[in-house]
Amino acid sequence: MSVAENLAQVISLVRAAEKTANRVPNSVRLVAVSKFHSADDVISAIKAGQNLFGENRVQEAVSKFSDISARGFSFDLHIIGTLQRNKVRDAVKIASCIESVDRIVLLEEIEKQCAKIGKTIDVLLEFHTGEETKAGFTDTEELKKAVRLCAEKAYPHILLKGLMTMASNTDDTEKIRRSFSTLRSLRDTLSQTYGLSLPELSMGMSGDYPIAISEGATIVRIGTAIFGARQ
Ligand SMILES: *Cc1c(COP(=O)(O)O)cnc(C)c1O
Repeated sequence: MSVAENLAQVISLVRAAEKTANRVPNSVRLVAVSKFHSADDVISAIKAGQNLFGENRVQEAVSKFSDISARGFSFDLHIIGTLQRNKVRDAVKIASCIESVDRIVLLEEIEKQCAKIGKTIDVLLEFHTGEETKAGFTDTEELKKAVRLCAEKAYPHILLKGLMTMASNTDDTEKIRRSFSTLRSLRDTLSQTYGLSLPELSMGMSGDYPIAISEGATIVRIGTAIFGARQ
């Protein structure tokens, strides 16, 4: 199937999952994860109506999306992979949201680089719930501290929008569901404790997004189901 056909199918399954979960129609945003796929694949998706993309690696994102931009297409990009401090400068230039902030020093660096270019950026804090990756805050006290600093307006160029996680890659759907419900209840607690709205929950990938939507995802990050298997 083509990228356009895959995309149409994923969108209809996302809408169906919203309906099943009694979620507001069109309340879940789709990030098309284009890592390891070409600029041409991304352009196919843009032509089919997709505007929002996700990339793991800043260098790959910069080279691919500069090309796409030069070819006259516009897009919105989220960084979803573990970010090194020395990549923040390029990341904040190209992305509208960094979903994978997993330590406080990154918030400091994002603030510094955004201040330099006069940009305000959306941020999600990644919390570790799955098993495959080491990504995300593992210590809830550190996570709380990050949220508190944002609530105290320590970072004027950062808008903290919510939380992100990756569940384990497993057939155990109850385990996956627990990852997502953990993230949601953590968000609820943080939101109440610090008086922040934290509307976004980025959770759900090709293999588990219907579960994530039933647990309250507002952003799903889907690669394989749209672009096919990665090399
Ligand atoms: C690659 C990746 C995805 C997409 O995974 P698929 O299984 O291909 O849908 C989502 N989120 C993150 C953080 C990723 O690295």
